[in-house]
Amino acid sequence: MVRAENVHKSFGHLDVLKGIDLVVGTGEVSVVIGPSGSGKSTFLRCVNHLEKINSGRIFVDGDLIGYRQHGDKLHELREKEVAAQRRSIGMVFQRFNLFPHMTALANVMEAPCRVKRQSKAQARERAVALLERVGLSDKVSNYPGQLSGGQQQRVAIARALAMEPKLMLFDEPTSALDPELVGEVLDVMKDLARDGMTMIVVTHEIGFAREVGDSLIFMDGGVVVESGAPREVLADPKHDRTKAFLAKVL
Ligand code: ATP
Ligand code: MG
Repeated sequence: MVRAENVHKSFGHLDVLKGIDLVVGTGEVSVVIGPSGSGKSTFLRCVNHLEKINSGRIFVDGDLIGYRQHGDKLHELREKEVAAQRRSIGMVFQRFNLFPHMTALANVMEAPCRVKRQSKAQARERAVALLERVGLSDKVSNYPGQLSGGQQQRVAIARALAMEPKLMLFDEPTSALDPELVGEVLDVMKDLARDGMTMIVVTHEIGFAREVGDSLIFMDGGVVVESGAPREVLADPKHDRTKAFLAKVL
């Protein structure tokens, strides 16, 4: 479903991604860990072309992200074409990205109505079902300010799912939450994984990685230092940098 080949990204003179290779099969969950500044968020942002890569290629479901290839030349896609690619990729951030002036229901209905031109009735029916799926049937009329952080984050997940993405990207979705709210968000993500969603999850929730991850990727300094089955990487890290990092988070 996702294939990143030798992805490089720099900001000015700062080389942030220095040749990332990564493959995520359909229905698989890849968990990405690594120290602050190692390029995890930047990589996720490259996957949906919120950041332009300097070299390399990223494919999602066979589509080359951001570019069209002619021979060995890459031509940038137009804004509209990038938007179309982005529609099939859901993203959930650390900070809840809900519209504060809209109810939970309206937040989930917004993109399908505006972008997919679904009828209100159709979008509402689906939004109600999605909010039920994330355990928020009784909160459809609440505004974000009337929801806990965990509830807001679950609305954000429902909102992303409303676009029926092929791939979900999560960037530390629980790290801004009070500890007692982390579990409810992880549970929703576990359900999604069980239902076969392809996911890339940046998180320091090692328990989640062990339980749900098909692969665990340790990034440091803009490279993938080590990757493999989560249990193996966690139980028997090969590289000193992985060992040092795990010693801090485990
Ligand atoms: P964290 O765990 O703290 O979220 P991260 O692994 O997600 O860290 P990134 O946010 O990808 O790290 O940042 C990697 C590096 O790129 C950092 O040094 C950061 O300052 C730099 N960086 C990120 N975005 C930009 C930008 N838009 N302009 C300039 N530098 C940037
Ligand atoms: Mg980050």
